[in-house]
Amino acid sequence: MSAIMIDGKRVAAETRARAAEEAAQLIRRGVTPHLAVVLAGDNPASQTYVRNKERACHEAGFRSTILRLPADCTQAELEEAVLRLNADASVHGILVQLPLPAGLDAARVLALIDPDKDVDGFHAVNAGRLATGQPGFVPCTPLGVIALLDAYQIPIAGSRAVVIGRSNIVGKPMARLLLARDATVTMCHSGTRDLASVTREADILIAAVGRPGFVTPEMVKPGAAVIDVGISRTESGLAGDVAPQVAQVAGYLTPVPGGVGPMTVAMLLHNTLQAARRLAL
Ligand code: NAD
Repeated sequence: MSAIMIDGKRVAAETRARAAEEAAQLIRRGVTPHLAVVLAGDNPASQTYVRNKERACHEAGFRSTILRLPADCTQAELEEAVLRLNADASVHGILVQLPLPAGLDAARVLALIDPDKDVDGFHAVNAGRLATGQPGFVPCTPLGVIALLDAYQIPIAGSRAVVIGRSNIVGKPMARLLLARDATVTMCHSGTRDLASVTREADILIAAVGRPGFVTPEMVKPGAAVIDVGISRTESGLAGDVAPQVAQVAGYLTPVPGGVGPMTVAMLLHNTLQAARRLAL
């Protein structure tokens, strides 16, 4: 048996096309969805990510602003930039590109973003809303994973779901989203004993660890949907957390690249539209 490969590029393109249609409707009502990105320093990967976000915004008809600060900017200058964007009624979504240059406190800056403009969903208020089942912004990557499962009609309710990784950006919100959809969820992490015995129970297995080839075929239940969030740069290019041989056991598998990755920017557009609707209508 060979797994069905989940085509994240296709699902992301469809999501972005839908976002463009919804943006056009908002624009007809006098509201142009507007994402502002704060980019401090000159980290090459961050520059690329921000360029991709800007391009996605323009393709969907959104307005995009990039606030660039030098690598040696002060914490006060960075915080001032966020406060200015909070106060700007034309801005619906704000994100601060991470990682920040050394010496800057990311947690303090993220806490200053207006939770109703926090389209990355990293603010503690939005984490709390997700944990308590209230509407709010959900981090884009786990939201994209749910969109992929739905696009392939992989049943979530009643399934056994296992999430490997407990970060605030991926693992924890991923587990909460699956729980909200009535999966029976287990979270695994660096302290989990006998990981394979847990992961073999999973109908849906999400890997968000950041170690190439970490998930091997023996860890996977035959026919399971395996979602590979990991992205690591290796000598032979980008690699996910899931070993290629897992395709012989799994029922569904996301490739790296071309699986979860493209969904993250698509869901950022989705979140920015949600912000624009809430703030401007
Ligand atoms: P992180 O480093 O914050 O978290 C990694 C998690 O893996 C930790 O919670 C840790 O407990 C767990 N872990 C480490 N060793 C383990 C072990 N031996 N057994 C079980 N669990 C173990 O990373 P993150 O920010 O959550 O990102 C995870 C991966 O996802 C990275 O490769 C990152 O690049 C990728 N990522 C991809 C996207 C995307 O758009 N596709 C977005 C965000 C992150």
